[in-house]
Amino acid sequence: MIIILSSDTTDEQINKLKHHIESLGLTPHLSIGTFRTIIGVIGDESKIDADQLCAFPGVSSVVPVLPPYKLASLDAHPQASVVEVGDVKIGGGHLCMISGPCSIESAEGLDAIAAAVVAAGANILRGGAYKPRSSPYAFQGMGVAGLKILRDVGERYDVPVVTEVTDPRNVEVVCEYADMLQVGARNMQNFVLLTEVGKCGKPVLLKRGMSATITDLLMSAEYVLAAGNQNVVLCERGIKSFDSSTRNLYDVAAVAVIKTLTHLPIIVDPSHATGRPDIIPACAYAGLAAGADGVHIEVHDHPEQAFSDGPQALSPKEFAATFKKLEELARVFDATF
Ligand code: PEP
Ligand code: MN
Repeated sequence: MIIILSSDTTDEQINKLKHHIESLGLTPHLSIGTFRTIIGVIGDESKIDADQLCAFPGVSSVVPVLPPYKLASLDAHPQASVVEVGDVKIGGGHLCMISGPCSIESAEGLDAIAAAVVAAGANILRGGAYKPRSSPYAFQGMGVAGLKILRDVGERYDVPVVTEVTDPRNVEVVCEYADMLQVGARNMQNFVLLTEVGKCGKPVLLKRGMSATITDLLMSAEYVLAAGNQNVVLCERGIKSFDSSTRNLYDVAAVAVIKTLTHLPIIVDPSHATGRPDIIPACAYAGLAAGADGVHIEVHDHPEQAFSDGPQALSPKEFAATFKKLEELARVFDATF
């Protein structure tokens, strides 16, 4: 950590700072420049609070040397992590293809969609039983009845299942039925929920909040890791923008950036990122090219009858054609679904 002092900092203020640093078991190293003086702090940076240092008189700014997400950072773990969901591996050249409807609507409905997406190549089935909706009057999901349908259908087609958990009180029941727990964009900074999914040990699909920076996303992952759960997969699903051409702004560069910062796998969700079936395939290819460890696409066989997110659903036929190209593209990047 580097402390940059103000140009008018007094010797007394510098001495106070040095004592504070030493009292934490760290070593201050003073460098006096022509215009500015800086103090380098040698030792375990986690012992010192940067915000607290900024409040000392005479401090202009504080520059941490290490990222605040200790466990998620590449420094902590230079090799790519591989997260296992059932027998599907994600990361380190192993790709996942998560697909299914936005919401679980009925046993027959999910069965038909699962049959199609699994036949086309999806290796993880999705479906929401608890839906975080902007309106309290919109369909909220089937709850436990939906979880049971998801489990049954997943077993029938021999694929692991992922579903969203929106409330810390539901973590236990969702764990009973799901192979992977999704924490959605709206809950990315629900720290109580993050700690609960961290304690449960099941793999977690952590979606980027719509106004979250990359650091925010990694700090949320850190909550899960710090609670003892190493099985975190990140997901870029679009952020808020001034442009309404797409539902959100698909931040594909974030995938490449995140690869330089963390060992955790990251997948892309072009369905929620764009909301446009006409461009979801192109954006899925772009995600893989940017280094994503998998893709998440919503599919519905009757989008006009879907209980949620119908307008962004690919048809089973469109999904099959998209996945074929994703498989070809994967070969270029030495990765396999
Ligand atoms: C979803 O996966 O259906 C969903 C609500 O996702 P997000 O949290 O990315 O909006
Ligand atoms: Mn959805």
